[in-house]
Amino acid sequence: MKIYQKTWFIILMLFALPPVGIILMWTGKKFNKIIRIILTVFFSFVTLFDILLFTIDTNETANNSEISTTEISSVAETTIKSNTTQMVDKLSEDAKNDAKTATDADIEKALNYLNSNVDKCFEDNKIMENFIYYGALLNYKFEDSDKRSKIGFQALKTVKYVYRGVESKTDEVTIDNVKQLKEMLNDYFAKSTDNESTSKQETSSKSATNATKEATAASTTTKKQTTTQNAPKGDGRTVYTAPTGKRYHFDPDCGGKNSSATSLDDALSRGLTPCQKCAS
Ligand SMILES: [Zn+2]
Repeated sequence: MKIYQKTWFIILMLFALPPVGIILMWTGKKFNKIIRIILTVFFSFVTLFDILLFTIDTNETANNSEISTTEISSVAETTIKSNTTQMVDKLSEDAKNDAKTATDADIEKALNYLNSNVDKCFEDNKIMENFIYYGALLNYKFEDSDKRSKIGFQALKTVKYVYRGVESKTDEVTIDNVKQLKEMLNDYFAKSTDNESTSKQETSSKSATNATKEATAASTTTKKQTTTQNAPKGDGRTVYTAPTGKRYHFDPDCGGKNSSATSLDDALSRGLTPCQKCAS
């Protein structure tokens, strides 16, 4: 007798794999015909029931995973609230990614937007968010020395603290920032047809007042220009000047017997230029 003809095996199959069990039961002529019919009907139902359960179960699992992914993405979107650092970061991050593919038209749009909305840049969240986004876009798109990058940085800096509620739009620093941004935009739009290098020089000396990345970038440019440009900020070092002299000296002996010590800032603010022998 083969194993598949044994009663215990057929019963086992009826439970484990009902279709196989049923076939073996009929081909092996196990039990009498009535019992075979009853068992066939019973295990057919069991099988159908199993298939049904399995189908429902799979569908539910599929639905559940769909629900959970939509929930996750909507949670991620709703957790970033307006007027938060997270929103500023998200806008900056978006701008950083978009900067890689931004076209000339996108840049022009960004600059025009900043220029035409600078007077109402704190009016509502939408405008402030646009300023943050466009500002970051320009800042990421161009080298730090490019005036469009500087405009972008200034726009971002001007708006983001007010947007987050850290500063108010009536604070002195904010008013000053807006003023600077306006000057930079006016300069950019007025001079955009002029000689590139003259407008670049003016932008960099104008923006040299803020102790930020802005200032760092500007001062590196202005250092080279101190021979011809007026009144950039010094770095606090001591220089020697004579009451009637037009130069300042690093060497106290070079300035002559009438010279006295003063700060480089002071010398620069008086419009003095570096001595060709000891200070250039
Ligand atoms: Zn000298």
